[in-house]
This record gives sequence, structure tokens and C-alpha cells, in this order.
Amino acid sequence: STDVTDRRQLAEQRERLLTDQREQNDRLRRLDRLKDELVALVSHELRNPLGAIRNYAEELLLDDTLSADQRHLTEVIDKHSAHMQNLVDDLLDMARLEDGSLRITPAPIEIGALVRDVLQSQQPAAAGKSLTVAADAPEHLAVRADPTRLRQVLDNLLSNAVKYTPSGGRVTITAERVADEVRVTVTDSGIGIPDDQYDLLFDRFFRASNAIKQGIKGTGLGLAITKTIVEAHGGRITAAPATGGGCCFTVALPALQ
Ligand code: ADP
Repeated sequence: STDVTDRRQLAEQRERLLTDQREQNDRLRRLDRLKDELVALVSHELRNPLGAIRNYAEELLLDDTLSADQRHLTEVIDKHSAHMQNLVDDLLDMARLEDGSLRITPAPIEIGALVRDVLQSQQPAAAGKSLTVAADAPEHLAVRADPTRLRQVLDNLLSNAVKYTPSGGRVTITAERVADEVRVTVTDSGIGIPDDQYDLLFDRFFRASNAIKQGIKGTGLGLAITKTIVEAHGGRITAAPATGGGCCFTVALPALQ
């Protein structure tokens, strides 16, 4: 009978431990949700004041009576508020992707037109660094995707390519059909990614050691967001070294028809 009592006590103990564990898991989940809500709320609230600071700084820059000093300080305000705006936008996107409130509304998209359009929007930044840019995409190649989100994906990849490629380098974007997929590849001749860090590229807040060492600014959120969007479309994204230095990113999406 002591045997029976022992066994009952053991069973009770086990039950208590399991309950504790469940309560702890619940608490962690609640905290996690709270953290996401806080990030979403703060980003949202920072958006308008930041936008106002940036707009006024840009308006001031149009004033040609500014002294050189005043102009310099205003440019610093403009640059830093732009950086904060990017960070806040990325955090907001991340939060929306996480709580599922970022809606994907797919429509047929002609990929060639989008590729050329995105390239055009990066042209000023590329020209500022004397980069050679080129697009190569056939007509009549289509995917079903959310237009805003797919543009964001290609914008992210192309702006990274421009950002991480030193003056005089080369950036290309190509689209092609391979079996039942459409593949869009962005290749650059830039600083590349250390071999042992490819696995970490799509983790939130990850920044490669060479980018940090060279003082190139970033949040480490763009690729995490990009990957989530691509996967929400049933696609996948990969990164690899490019021949002759630099790296290339490929987005594969199911082809339409
Ligand atoms: P961010 O550029 O804001 O830091 P991303 O999430 O877009 O964030 O990229 C994560 C990291 O991946 C970057 O910090 C950089 O180290 C590396 N990276 C991304 N694209 C490139 C590229 N084209 N060439 C070299 N490194 C890159």
C-alpha cells in the first residue's frame, strides 16, 4: 500500500509540474504578443512626427538663403530622419507580417514591366555612385502576386545591391521562366557576403560583419521582410556568391499559366 501511495504522490507531482509548465508557456505567449503590439504601436505613433520632421527639413533645404552651416545641419536632420523612417516602416511591416494583418491581394503582374520600373526608381541612387545598371526581362512573363508587395521585394533587393556595391560597380536584374517558375535575379559586383554568413542573411536584425565593418548603415530587417513576403506568395528566395565577387539573390515564384 505504500507503493500505491508513492505512485499517487508521483502522479500528483507530475500533474503539478505540467500545470506549471502550461502556465509558464501561456505567460510567455502573452508577453510575446505584448512585445509585438508594443512594437506595432510605437512604430505607428512615430511615423507621423518623423514624417513631419523630414518634410520640414526638406522644405528648409529649398531655401537658398541658408548659410553653409545651416544647410549642413539641415542635411544631417534630413538624413537621420530618413533612416529612422525606414526603420519604423520596416518594424511596422514586420509586426503586420507577424500578426497576419498584412494582406496579400494577388493580381496578374507582367514581371518585365515591374522589373524595369523598379530599376528606374533606383537609377538616381545608382547614378550617384556611378554604377552600371541593367535589366533583362522578356515581355509577356507573368506571375500572380500582390503588386505593392512584389514591388517592395524587388525594391529591397535592388536597393541592397546598390547600397552594398562600391562606386563604379555593376548591378543587374534579370527575369526568366524556368519550368513552372518565374525567377527574378538581382546580381551585383559589390562587397559580397562572407561564406559562413549566408545562412543567417534572412534572420531578423542580422547584418553581415563586412557591412558593419565598412560602416554601411542598415537595420537588418529588409531581407527578413522580403523572405516572409515571398513565402506568403508560395515562392522562395535564395542568396549565393556571384562569379567575380559580389552576390546574387534569386526570387522564384510560381509562373502564371
Ligand atoms: P540592411 O541592409 O538594412 O542591413 P537587410 O535585411 O536588407 O538589412 O540585409 C541584411 C544584411 O545582409 C545586410 O546588413 C548586409 O550585411 C547583407 N546584404 C544584403 N544584401 C547584400 C548585398 N547585395 N551585398 C552584400 N551584402 C548584402
